[in-house]
Amino acid sequence: MEEPFDCIIVGGGIAGLSAAMTLARGGARFLLIERGEFCGAKNVSGGVLWGTDLQRLVPGYADDPDAGFERFVNHRRLTFLDDDSAFSVDFKSTRFDEKPYGGVTVLRAVFDAWLAGKVQQAIDESPYPDESFLATDVLVEEVLMEDGRAVGIRAGDEEFRANCVLLAEGVNNLLTRQVGLENPFVDADHVAVGVKEVLRMDVDRLADRFQLCGRSGLTNEFVGAATKGVEGGGFLYTNRDSLSVGLVIGMKDLREKGGTPYDLLNHFKAHPAIRDMIQGAETVEYSAHVVSTGDIRGLPKELYGDGVLIAGEAAHLLMNAGKAIQGMDYAMRSGMLAAETVLEARKAGDFSSAMMSNYRKALDASYIMHDMRSFQDAVHLLHSEPMFSNVPNVLCDFGRQFFAVRSEPTPKALSMMHAAVKRHASYWDLVKLGIKAARAL
Ligand SMILES: Cc1cc2nc3c(=O)[nH]c(=O)nc-3n(C[C@H](O)[C@H](O)[C@H](O)COP(=O)(O)OP(=O)(O)OC[C@H]3O[C@@H](n4cnc5c(N)ncnc54)[C@H](O)[C@@H]3O)c2cc1C
Repeated sequence: MEEPFDCIIVGGGIAGLSAAMTLARGGARFLLIERGEFCGAKNVSGGVLWGTDLQRLVPGYADDPDAGFERFVNHRRLTFLDDDSAFSVDFKSTRFDEKPYGGVTVLRAVFDAWLAGKVQQAIDESPYPDESFLATDVLVEEVLMEDGRAVGIRAGDEEFRANCVLLAEGVNNLLTRQVGLENPFVDADHVAVGVKEVLRMDVDRLADRFQLCGRSGLTNEFVGAATKGVEGGGFLYTNRDSLSVGLVIGMKDLREKGGTPYDLLNHFKAHPAIRDMIQGAETVEYSAHVVSTGDIRGLPKELYGDGVLIAGEAAHLLMNAGKAIQGMDYAMRSGMLAAETVLEARKAGDFSSAMMSNYRKALDASYIMHDMRSFQDAVHLLHSEPMFSNVPNVLCDFGRQFFAVRSEPTPKALSMMHAAVKRHASYWDLVKLGIKAARAL
């Protein structure tokens, strides 16, 4: 019988590739299996890869003109919309030009394929250049279990054995359910649907319209009329010569209020603020994908078992507390941590559940679980009705009064705010919301 791999990784998204890179550098023998034709073929993201872990994974990537990212983010904007107005909080800083970048926009078909190339390079330079593999266009159908322990996988008629299996299969975590670490049905509260278009735009027009310089980029999130009263929000991110424009919509609320994701996306694109930004751009790609909401109650029962680990969004590791969607950086870090546990297990010759629990400990000590715990109230607040109805309406109403100059006596800002609140909310509701927001953030 052939010697088993140290690890089989299911999924060649960011979690899987980050784990693979760590295993290759740590001198392990592994097999990564991706069902897409190539890594990135099946993936959808807004997407901004936040944080600085990419620099750890691919040192010096930002100096490589062919690196797989689109633009680094030095300009951020949060916009509240009602039907005809847009009220924004805007922040730009040259300090964000400094490396390592704290956020880069990515197109996953490009980025994941580039990262897979870097992993292959690491395999070629590892002690096992001929015994570790990236296999694409293969669907893993089953995790092989013996006496409650994962011992390999089945893909079609073929079986491959390993000392452990790392599930990095993304949010549709069927294998995580098969091994019993996730319930068969996921609560609709814990998932949202994301829809996105990539709109091609002439690079000079893009730079002029969004005040971009070199490879700098803008990210813009939207709340309010973006989603026609359905829970959720919108985004617009600048790529090299395109825009990523989309919505993340609460599935439960969409089901209750009716409508389809693409209707909502068309509605969003037709809003005057968005229409002016995307004018002249041509849709070249449309995609939709489920995405976790960041509710910590959505995490699987456990993130490890005998011979098995779960990383990335398969474990529902994601944060969306209004400031940013952080799914890719969580996938990257959790993939790296899971692989570090595999390397420890390999050294000790012990792939038991007790050894795998070190992954959970490392995750608990990391910024991922720290932030997911600290900002749960913000996650829930963001998904509450006032955040996507009353608050944007009040702010836009106030903005219309405050920024208007008429040839008549001007009221003080406080009385403008008072009038806006009276029209769209109650003081008491807003005070309660303000206190909650202050505590949550
Ligand atoms: C519209 C939208 C916008 C988003 N915006 C952002 C953003 O701006 N920033 C951010 O950080 N995150 C964002 N996210 C979330 C982010 O995309 C995910 O959290 C991230 O991709 C998770 O990475 P992953 O590696 O865990 O899973 P994935 O990227 O989903 O990768 C899983 C991989 O496993 C493969 N696979 C699955 N099952 C099998 C199988 N049985 N056999 C073989 N292969 C398999 C899939 O083909 C896939 O390639 C967004 C998501 C959506 C939908």
